[in-house]
Amino acid sequence: MSVIVKPDICTGCETCVQSCPFDAIVMKDGKAYINEYCTACKACISLCPEGAIIETEESAQR
Ligand code: SF4
Ligand code: SF4
Repeated sequence: MSVIVKPDICTGCETCVQSCPFDAIVMKDGKAYINEYCTACKACISLCPEGAIIETEESAQR
């Protein structure tokens, strides 16, 4: 299980960046990107106003 950002939906608002307790969300080319520090705690998912952060069955589909 992993948590990813769908870049086609992300507006780059950066709301999620501050929300991650593990500093796993970084901005990359104007979009949020979840790096390897993510523990899949899911704290960020409900915070994204666009619904761009999703949980996926696949591991590391980045
Ligand atoms: S909160 Fe959602 S739309 Fe905003 S930067 Fe994060 S993933 Fe993108
Ligand atoms: S699931 Fe948790 S650890 Fe992963 S990016 Fe979101 S807030 Fe950070």
